[in-house]
Amino acid sequence: MSGLGKGIFSSSLAKLLKDKGLKVEPIKMEGYLNIDSGTLNPYRHGEVFVLDDGMETDMDLGTYERMLDQNLGAANFTTSGQIYRRVLDKERHGGYLGRDVQMIPHVTGDVKFNLRKLAMNTQADVVFVEVGGTVGDFENGFYIEALRELAFEEGDAGVCFVALTYVIEPQALGEQKSKAAQLGLKKLMEAGIQPHLIACRGHNEIEESAMEKIAMFSNVPKRRCFSMHDRKSIYTIPESMREAGLDREVLTRLGLHDRVNQRNEDTAREEWQGFVNKLTRKRKFKARIGITGKYAKIRDAYASIDKALEHCGVHLNADLDVQWLDTTEMQPSDVPRKLEDLNGIIVPGGFGKRGTEGKIACIQYCRENALPYLGICLGFQMAVVEYARNVCGLKDAGSTEFDPNTTAPVIGLLPEQKEIEGLGGNMRLGGKDVQVKSDTLAYFLYNNQNMIRERFRHRFEVDPQYIEKIEEQGMVFSGQHPQQPIMQVLELPTKIHPYFIGAQFHPELTGRPLKPQPMFMGLVAAAIQHAHPDVEPGEISKRWLPPVEYSIKG
Ligand code: GLN
Repeated sequence: MSGLGKGIFSSSLAKLLKDKGLKVEPIKMEGYLNIDSGTLNPYRHGEVFVLDDGMETDMDLGTYERMLDQNLGAANFTTSGQIYRRVLDKERHGGYLGRDVQMIPHVTGDVKFNLRKLAMNTQADVVFVEVGGTVGDFENGFYIEALRELAFEEGDAGVCFVALTYVIEPQALGEQKSKAAQLGLKKLMEAGIQPHLIACRGHNEIEESAMEKIAMFSNVPKRRCFSMHDRKSIYTIPESMREAGLDREVLTRLGLHDRVNQRNEDTAREEWQGFVNKLTRKRKFKARIGITGKYAKIRDAYASIDKALEHCGVHLNADLDVQWLDTTEMQPSDVPRKLEDLNGIIVPGGFGKRGTEGKIACIQYCRENALPYLGICLGFQMAVVEYARNVCGLKDAGSTEFDPNTTAPVIGLLPEQKEIEGLGGNMRLGGKDVQVKSDTLAYFLYNNQNMIRERFRHRFEVDPQYIEKIEEQGMVFSGQHPQQPIMQVLELPTKIHPYFIGAQFHPELTGRPLKPQPMFMGLVAAAIQHAHPDVEPGEISKRWLPPVEYSIKG
């Protein structure tokens, strides 16, 4: 089933091997026909994760990047749509020399070709292939067949199959039942695949008796059946897999013991364990962070923001209470009541008009009440609109995304985007360099670097004709495109606000457990200070609380 944690299992196992010094490359294979995840509704599918090369993918790629601390690209993600498109394009170009084009061997052939290409191009020791969906689905059947063929062609010892299954625990019974899991495994074996490892998902740790049945009916020895029950954090899973000996089982299976670099593993494990220890300790501080969002009910729609905050809470020793604020019904008069107990606000990315006036009202409250604020993409744009309206006197200020007829379009389409038609086609996507002004809050957060790289996914931007007017009134555009007048970071000087910053990019996409994202660290540190006004800043964080004197021209 989707959403069970195949990506978490696969990325944890990949991490264990990477820690040993092996080169690993994950690939997620989606069953759907969409060419990428760009047009998917985050409410139904979770967030769209954008890779550095601009590929829009499933949120699992975020899990891989965070777990492995490794940037991925288009080669690490495929959909049925991409595969069919390649096959059909080839057919139109006469590539099949008069043959009829068939699922087997042509579609399965394309799958195998791309897996081999990934392995060859990256020189990976191990490629971790994750097939989306459930065994028995129509749409992933050809992937499973392709993998069976691949195992046959490459020789048995070149492949290690992992089945992820689910052990149910009906409330009325109060005991674990392995039957559904057994049937699922049987289905896999009918497809000609004998698993070598079984990951058993379940709410509670899988009991001996359930495990024994699963082992027995699937021909997988119990030492290769792993209980992957729910836990406080997924970041504890790699170590528990290691303790269960899964890493050794995989190395034995694939004959890779001689490639292990023990010293590498020791260092990597120690670093990770340091993080996990901080994660599980009792935290010293508390802070409440509000996130406004149309998809507020579904956490997956904001998975990377959630994770970025989790990392910061761990590093700054704080329990973060994340509250979701639905702004669609919010009236300006509701705002003080909704925000007064919070210590920091994030307005995340989004599309469409719904809820934007409520967001603008929240931003105004943050600005006027010294409440720490981080605006992401749409949250950056709305901060510009709010400032233009309430500080610069442009009462009608708006974004042409929602108000095509506004007389003060402070946010509008990029000139080059106007020319391109078609959904998904005119988005500014992927990792881009951002030039950071010296002696600004952004410069402080990014450790005094003038050039940073972050990931974008937007169509609209600050209209250059308003930049001067806005900056005259005190807002600073501290991050810009290196050559063009595209504004990418905004802030208020720390002399007038403890933490007010916005990014046209998505900082959450580059947060990693051991390298927490600077803008999030700044927000969380400021929120902790807000929640604990009597605590000395130095006790919260010397690194992440900006000095007050950062005030730029204007
Ligand atoms: N809707 C805005 C744009 O297209 C913001 C996009 C976003 O927040 N990802 O520019």
